[in-house]
Amino acid sequence: MTTQTAAPARLRGGHPQHTTDQEQHMPIRPENRGRYPINWPDISRSIRIDRARLRCECDGRCGTSHGGRCAARNARPNPMTGSLVVLTVAHLDHNPANCDPANLMAACQACHLRYDREHHAQTRAATRRAAITAAGQLTLEDPCPSAST
Ligand SMILES: [Zn+2]
Ligand SMILES: [Zn+2]
Repeated sequence: MTTQTAAPARLRGGHPQHTTDQEQHMPIRPENRGRYPINWPDISRSIRIDRARLRCECDGRCGTSHGGRCAARNARPNPMTGSLVVLTVAHLDHNPANCDPANLMAACQACHLRYDREHHAQTRAATRRAAITAAGQLTLEDPCPSAST
C-alpha cells in the first residue's frame, strides 16, 4: 500500500527560475537566425560576462572615440546617451557563423549600431567602387563607337 502524499504546492528554494531574457533583446534577423551556432546564447553570455565583465568592449572600433574603452555597462545608463545599456555581442566580420572569440565584441547598443552602420557604409562604398570599376572595364573592352573624337 502506497501512501500518496499530495505534493505540497510549495516552491522549493524560493528563487524564481527565470530564463535569461538577454537574448530576446538581441536583434537577430530572421535570415541570419540559422547561421548562429546552437550554443550561441552560451558563447554570447561567456563573452559578455566572463571576458567583458558586462562592460562594452568597444575601443573606438565603432567609429566614435570614447577616449579609450567605452564606459557603458550592462543594465546601467549609458554615459553617452543616458539610455539603459543592454550589452550585446557584435560579430566584427558581420558573419554570425564566425564565433571565434577574436571575432566577437561585447558592445552596448550605441556602439553596436554605429559599428554596423560603419560596415554598411563601407559595403555600399565598396559596391559602388566595384560597379564603377566594372563599368570602366566594360568601356575599355567595348568602347562606344559614337564616343570617338
Ligand atoms: Zn559602447
Ligand atoms: Zn564604440
